[in-house]
Amino acid sequence: MKINKRNMHLILRLLLVTINISLFAINGTALAVVSAASKEIAVTFDDLPNRSLFETDKNNPTKQLTARHHKILRALKKYKITAVGFVNEKGLYNNCDGNKAEQNKPSQYNPDPARVAILQVWLDAGHELGNHTYSHLTLNRVDLDEYVADIIKGQRVFAPLMHKYGKTPRYFRHPFLHTGRSIFIHAALEKFLAQHGYIIAPPTIDTDDWMFNMVYSKAKQVGDHKKTQQLKNEYIKFTANKFDFYEAASQQMFGRSIKHIWLLHAIDIDADCLDELLQLVKDRGYKFITVAEALQDPVYKLKDTYTGPTGVAWLFHWDYSDKKIVDWKKEPIPSGEVREIAMMDKDQ
Ligand SMILES: [Zn+2]
Repeated sequence: MKINKRNMHLILRLLLVTINISLFAINGTALAVVSAASKEIAVTFDDLPNRSLFETDKNNPTKQLTARHHKILRALKKYKITAVGFVNEKGLYNNCDGNKAEQNKPSQYNPDPARVAILQVWLDAGHELGNHTYSHLTLNRVDLDEYVADIIKGQRVFAPLMHKYGKTPRYFRHPFLHTGRSIFIHAALEKFLAQHGYIIAPPTIDTDDWMFNMVYSKAKQVGDHKKTQQLKNEYIKFTANKFDFYEAASQQMFGRSIKHIWLLHAIDIDADCLDELLQLVKDRGYKFITVAEALQDPVYKLKDTYTGPTGVAWLFHWDYSDKKIVDWKKEPIPSGEVREIAMMDKDQ
């Protein structure tokens, strides 16, 4: 083509369009990266290995439990997530109570190797374990001495296991999210935890999975597929509503999306829904990060003076301790049978 003045003009216009498209693409990508990076979440599971509420295989409950954990780990692998699992070592014993019984006949009360193996597969998969006390005590009801003794007792099996992987336990989570009824207890516990190499890993997103699980695992046990499906749908929808609420609260309190820590449990409903739950969160624009990365967010350094009786996620703690600007009455709560049964078994 002969390049005359008219053609040159056309070429210049085309070049400009191309440059604009390129700039738009760069900006578009940059915006997408920024927006993806601005929503980050770490995933945690409490109550490992977790005793089944309603076993479907009475003859071999540990086999059922192991399968549940493998299912959780498969979903985590699919989304390339490195999670933290918080352990209650009491659940490693088949005879339920490793407390009094083991004092009399310790040899008969060794942990079930198959349950210890569950912790091992978490570590094999690159995840980390944390301390959730030995017997899932509530700090709102026992004194601090008993509570910290339970923390020490709760690391006898999993800490040496972690050492084999070159890791040391570093995260603690309060059972029931009960943090004690005074700021003096908060401070004393934090001092104890620091002396023993632990820091608190506070969840900012709590999707009330255990409430749904009370009804779900019972329906699953009796093979009520219609009901389990309905509960799964309800739970996933509820999770989305909870994310809506916490995202709005984060914006209201901090003007941005904080680095969240999500509390889940090693329970049936999470194992069965995890793939969909993680996809839902990914579709909302979240990037999955580790707890260590989440804790880099300065919000985790904020003061926490909440001493109320209810176990609640930390956005509430921080709001309560500061401006009290979020309308927490609007926080979604499960309805109907899920709520009723969960309320009856609140401290189970
Ligand atoms: Zn727990």
